[in-house]
Amino acid sequence: AEWQERGAAVGIRREVDANGRTVVRQVKKGVRDFSFGRVLGEGSYSSVYLATDRQTLKEYAIKVLEKRHILKEKKVKYVNIEKNTLNRLTEHPGIVRLYYTFQDEASLYYVLDLCNGGELLGVLKRTGTFDIECTRFYGAQILDAIEYMHSRGVIHRDLKPENVLLDDAMHVKITDFGTAKLLPDPREAQKQQDASARGVPDPGRREAEEDSRAASFVGTAEYVSPELLTNKSACKASDLWAFGCIIYQLLAGRPPFKAGSEYLTFQKIVNLEYEFPAGFPHAARDLVERLLVLDPSRRLTVEHIRNHEFFDGQPFGVGLWRSKAPRLRPYVPP
Ligand code: ATP
Repeated sequence: AEWQERGAAVGIRREVDANGRTVVRQVKKGVRDFSFGRVLGEGSYSSVYLATDRQTLKEYAIKVLEKRHILKEKKVKYVNIEKNTLNRLTEHPGIVRLYYTFQDEASLYYVLDLCNGGELLGVLKRTGTFDIECTRFYGAQILDAIEYMHSRGVIHRDLKPENVLLDDAMHVKITDFGTAKLLPDPREAQKQQDASARGVPDPGRREAEEDSRAASFVGTAEYVSPELLTNKSACKASDLWAFGCIIYQLLAGRPPFKAGSEYLTFQKIVNLEYEFPAGFPHAARDLVERLLVLDPSRRLTVEHIRNHEFFDGQPFGVGLWRSKAPRLRPYVPP
């Protein structure tokens, strides 16, 4: 199997040389550089541990994937997608950052941002629903992270409250990029354009010309967009459909499309069959109605959403990530 191993796993070590001078060396981090603590969670192909960098004492979450199990289940492709995607998304506070990767004979290790606050779904289940202020804050953070990943050519394709983790400050960190679609990176494309202008041939041109639609069926039934069900194709707007489902769920306490089976859920989605609970806030209803639109080209864009009245007065960008998370309170209809 192709276990990709490149970059990322670099750290700095200070050593004293034979002449007594301090030298700074770049070294690869390995399993022995971390002390492992309790299990934070288990996935189908992985266990996630709390771990501490022995040198810096900084805490991380380390995801350990067992090679044998991944091979047996034919998931090598997904493991590589997750890693390649995370390596592209390292500059945003709203996305779980991958710091180092390494491997030994049995396992792959991903050293990630620690998210002590758990999953947004768990937090939502404790309060039942979120009030408008909380929904606005968490909605804004999720939207800001979506905008960043789209700007880097990543479609998540499986956004849902389980994949929104929370850090110490109860700020959002989006995770689970195993089913993401990587479009040609716009920044790489720009570099290549500059190179082409200088007469350097472009090896990735065919890929760059590929339609930005991504075939193949992935996701979770309740948040799957109608275009994925009817055309088997996902685009950036598919993530905004999921975003609409999440806004609905935060205020209503349940996702808009939910039925006894996956098949029945899909039926509801393609027929746009959902209802708002009584007392659902007016501005949020308008926002959700403009996101849960069957034709992806007619859905609100990130910019439209930011300017929607539901987000009136809500800072985005740096101010959003510096602000304190609101106290969690359930929505009380008027
Ligand atoms: P599956 O592989 O079945 O889809 P999953 O994607 O949740 O499950 P993992 O990504 O391995 O699998 O995560 C397992 C559990 O560990 C999750 O439920 C999550 O709560 C926890 N977890 C994952 N990443 C972190 C993190 N960075 N910080 C804290 N906890 C985490």
